[in-house]
Amino acid sequence: MDADRSISDVALWPMRYDLHTHSKASDGKYSPTELIGYAKKCGVEVVALTDHDTCLGVEEAVAAGKNIGTHVVAGIEISTLWHGNQIHIVGLSVDVNSSAMQELVKVQSELRRVRAIEIGHRLEKAGFADAYERTKAAAAPGASITRGNYAAFLCREGAAHTEDKCFSKYLAKGCIAYVQPNWQTIDFAVKAIIDAKGIPVLAHPRRYDMNNKWLRKLIEYFKDAGGEAMEVSSGMQIPAERIFLGQLSAEYGLYASAGSDFHHEKPYLDMGVNLALPEGIEGFKPVWRSEHFKLEV
Ligand code: AMP
Ligand code: MN
Ligand code: MN
Ligand code: MN
Repeated sequence: MDADRSISDVALWPMRYDLHTHSKASDGKYSPTELIGYAKKCGVEVVALTDHDTCLGVEEAVAAGKNIGTHVVAGIEISTLWHGNQIHIVGLSVDVNSSAMQELVKVQSELRRVRAIEIGHRLEKAGFADAYERTKAAAAPGASITRGNYAAFLCREGAAHTEDKCFSKYLAKGCIAYVQPNWQTIDFAVKAIIDAKGIPVLAHPRRYDMNNKWLRKLIEYFKDAGGEAMEVSSGMQIPAERIFLGQLSAEYGLYASAGSDFHHEKPYLDMGVNLALPEGIEGFKPVWRSEHFKLEV
């Protein structure tokens, strides 16, 4: 074993972790308590709750973790805009009670509320009565309403057989209910996470429809803004892709994170599955070696 591994690293290294998940506090299927229970069932020992633009579920997740003996990391996934792309920044080990997090959540939740209402109006025009109210009623009180919530609603309404189809029919860019978001900048999100003593993590770098030149620009920008880590392992991913992202993380001096982005069970994607970080890359550092990585329980 490496001589320089810290005690917490030794304790965490063999554990199964999933550092990107959602609950009913945004567009996940399970309540925070159910989610932590589900993590245990899946054999995940360290789970970060990272709901969209809210920390609403964290307290309940921590209490559930305490109850059943599962480690919980307090997290958030913040929506930002960069050159017209919707970039997601995960914050790990954030102090959810800090003024930085509370301010950020206030700003983002208002942007989300206004956008969700507008999406609802458009869906009403398309024949889905009370779309906003009914979508909201399915999530926890005060939850962030995302297009994921609307995709689930449309599916329940029988608009199409799968959420994916509902999404591409109504919610994707260019569709009838697409509303251009007005998110904050990457710098704003990164600063809020750092002020809340957390770790800014560039989420799912391969999901932005960018070529490698733009991906590198994004990583450089994120790093310069104060970014500390990037997601390398994400479950549904070919090995070459994981190694490539692992190499990028090492090249840019970013810690590597692993998360499934679990919302609900899907074919080929589940909590904690296929999330091992790549091995043998020089300079590679798992995110739990960061001095800022902290478990709530
Ligand atoms: P928003 O941040 O409001 O634009 O919504 C983004 C969320 O929509 C993502 O986090 C996913 O949960 C969900 N989403 C994105 N693409 C799809 C899709 N093809 N099918 C179903 N849900 C999707
Ligand atoms: Mn989502
Ligand atoms: Mn995301
Ligand atoms: Mn996510």
